[in-house]
Amino acid sequence: MFKRMEEIMIEIPDVEKPDPNAAAAVQELLGGKFGEMSTLNNYLFQSFNFRSKSKLRPFYDLVMSITAEELGHVELVTHGIGKILQGSTSPGNPDKSPLESVKDARLSYPFLAGAQGGMPIDSMGNPWTGANVFNSGNLVEDLLHNFFLECGARTHKMKVYEMTDHPAARAVVGFLLVRGGVHVVAYAKALEIATGVNVTKLIPIPSLDNRKFNESRKYEEKGVHTKLYTWSDNDFTTIDQIWKGTHPEDGSPLEVIHGVPKGVPIPEAPPIDEEFAPGISAAEFKEIAKRLKQSGNIKE
Ligand code: MN
Ligand code: MN
Repeated sequence: MFKRMEEIMIEIPDVEKPDPNAAAAVQELLGGKFGEMSTLNNYLFQSFNFRSKSKLRPFYDLVMSITAEELGHVELVTHGIGKILQGSTSPGNPDKSPLESVKDARLSYPFLAGAQGGMPIDSMGNPWTGANVFNSGNLVEDLLHNFFLECGARTHKMKVYEMTDHPAARAVVGFLLVRGGVHVVAYAKALEIATGVNVTKLIPIPSLDNRKFNESRKYEEKGVHTKLYTWSDNDFTTIDQIWKGTHPEDGSPLEVIHGVPKGVPIPEAPPIDEEFAPGISAAEFKEIAKRLKQSGNIKE
């Protein structure tokens, strides 16, 4: 089961600089083959179908806990895309074409099928597919796949970072580079325990340190790269049998945190009248409030 909180992992800056094509690039990190939808669903199905968990408890706990973090990453990237798109169009008479400013944007779906939010599509508009999920049932094969997936996800993040300097994109990508780096190391350590092979010697792939990125360095300086969370009140505590010792890149001690990291409130998304969203007028708000009061039996 999952428990939900009205929080996202980090603060995303409000910027008066919409950039639909930057948002399209960031879509690759949401619905691309190596995006957050893929990491989430790979670990989700691997955790659902995991066999012999009683004998392989730390590996099971690892996949269970990282699944929850990936759901938070899907959430964070989607909010990031919303912030990058914010202000792309302005309200106006339909005859004045209020959506014309995005007519030549790389992706039309976020404006036509949606109302300027993130969608489960890649940077070219291809829908995310379950074909991106790999779950052989063989523990080492699945861990090896996850290690590769996290390295590939890291490469894609670095390229998107290089493609746009939009502050909302950079904030999200910089943070996720660090958290993705944690998962790379976690799966490498799990593979070492399962096989005896020191996979951490391969790290980092690509051979560029997170500290080379301004928006990542600040998190590494705070030790965000050394913490792995259980994402649960009481469960998945045996990840400390995998997440232990020191970080292969800088030698800092690794730490398991029981529970969840402290997040920030989910920002309020403003209405977009020209997209009919949410499409509720001030008078209708009053009517709805009246009906809510009546159904709750609240007296004026
Ligand atoms: Mn992720
Ligand atoms: Mn990850």
